[in-house]
Amino acid sequence: MADGDHVLVCVAWPYANGPLHLGHVAGCYLPPDIYARFERARGNRVLMVSGSDEHGTPITVTAEQNGVSSQDIVDEYHSVNSKALLDLGCTWMPNIDSRGSSYGGSLFNRTTDIRHKKKVQSNFKLLYDAGFFEKRTMQQYFEVHPDGGGRFLPDRYIEGVCPSCGADGARGDQCDACGATYESYELKNPISKMNPELPVEIRDTEHLFYRLDLFQKALEQHAENNHSVWKPNVRAMTKQWLDMGLRPRAVTRDLEWGIDVPLEGDDWHGKCIYVWFEAVQGYLTCSQIWSEEYDDGSSWENWWIENDILSQRHYYFLGKDNVPFHTVIWPAILMGLNHARNGKNANHPVELPSTGDLRLEDNVPAMEYLMLGGGQFSKSRKHAIWLPSFLDRFDPDTLRYYLSINMPES
Ligand SMILES: [Zn+2]
Repeated sequence: MADGDHVLVCVAWPYANGPLHLGHVAGCYLPPDIYARFERARGNRVLMVSGSDEHGTPITVTAEQNGVSSQDIVDEYHSVNSKALLDLGCTWMPNIDSRGSSYGGSLFNRTTDIRHKKKVQSNFKLLYDAGFFEKRTMQQYFEVHPDGGGRFLPDRYIEGVCPSCGADGARGDQCDACGATYESYELKNPISKMNPELPVEIRDTEHLFYRLDLFQKALEQHAENNHSVWKPNVRAMTKQWLDMGLRPRAVTRDLEWGIDVPLEGDDWHGKCIYVWFEAVQGYLTCSQIWSEEYDDGSSWENWWIENDILSQRHYYFLGKDNVPFHTVIWPAILMGLNHARNGKNANHPVELPSTGDLRLEDNVPAMEYLMLGGGQFSKSRKHAIWLPSFLDRFDPDTLRYYLSINMPES
């Protein structure tokens, strides 16, 4: 038996549309670095992966508001944020563990990496061929221009009243007030975020939906198996999703800035894979890319592929908003991939991973929010202390110490 556990430390991927703030650092970026150092000090083999989330409407809306290209936005903030994390003393460099690559290392990648795109497209094809997608016509808001043209308004391009709690200013895909997620056509009193004066109407558009319903039983079993390990907030948010009953979920968008849907036909022209569906695969693609770039190209399997000999553990560090994406959607994608890799299709019952399969998460130590003057830190409302400007003036160890003793655990 090889010395030391194979520990995968997965760190939430920050959107490259602004600088990180201290709420992010306390919630998602400092805890995994401390944990990775702890596991390395115990002699374990740690691979730490993350990177910039560079697609989707969070990026394109910021670019339009600033009158620059999406590429400009992601280039700027990938560079700002990767430097800030290194300045904070996080061990994203060097990429190879000082004991050698068999002891792992780290990679802070980006989702515009062509290798990530290719791997996501190949996974998408695999899931498609196994029958895990269903094509549906859905109703989407469309901004009508005076010349008769116009465009669809996915996710953050539309704002309105939350269908769940009634709060104003809810986004097309998520309500910041109550945390609910929904399809954008469910939003009430919708207006175009970029052009509020233009009329908005509902039009039909074809999209692919991932059959989450097929994973309900396996995910319930998975949640039960982890009941004693997961924190109460993780258990509760996962249970809330499972209790509602999982439904097929739209995983393509009418948007150019993203990873193209890898299917033939006019239906898919101008559409991309939903940013959440592809960025969450970054934990896997980043491990594979690390292995290709810094090791033999197959060593990622020591961390990812279930194995009777090696002891493996997976930890996902993220803010509590994102819990269901990591305890429901991501395991459903992984189990779908396992199923397809084993030559099965959507007609066969989905099973939890066994030897030779991709591993699911062991724990998701999601943090509560760090408060600033009694309110939540917020990037969109610019109520925050930014990491880069803080580190311009103060020593990183002061910040690491202060945030560690005030870690928002509850
Ligand atoms: Zn709400």
